[in-house]
Amino acid sequence: MSDEPTKLAEGMTPAPRERARVLGHTCEHEGCDKHAGFGFNRPRQESHWFCFEHKDDGERYL
Ligand SMILES: [Zn+2]
Repeated sequence: MSDEPTKLAEGMTPAPRERARVLGHTCEHEGCDKHAGFGFNRPRQESHWFCFEHKDDGERYL
């Protein structure tokens, strides 16, 4: 019997950069660091991210 750790199949774990893209946004509202599920951006401009509570703040970036 082998006691080598089981190797995860390739593609089972997201690359670090991919994880950051998905999970790396926190709300930009001052004092709020919740996960931001709502992104706002205009073409050729930086994105701004807000949580559900503060997503109205993002409207001014549109
Ligand atoms: Zn927020």
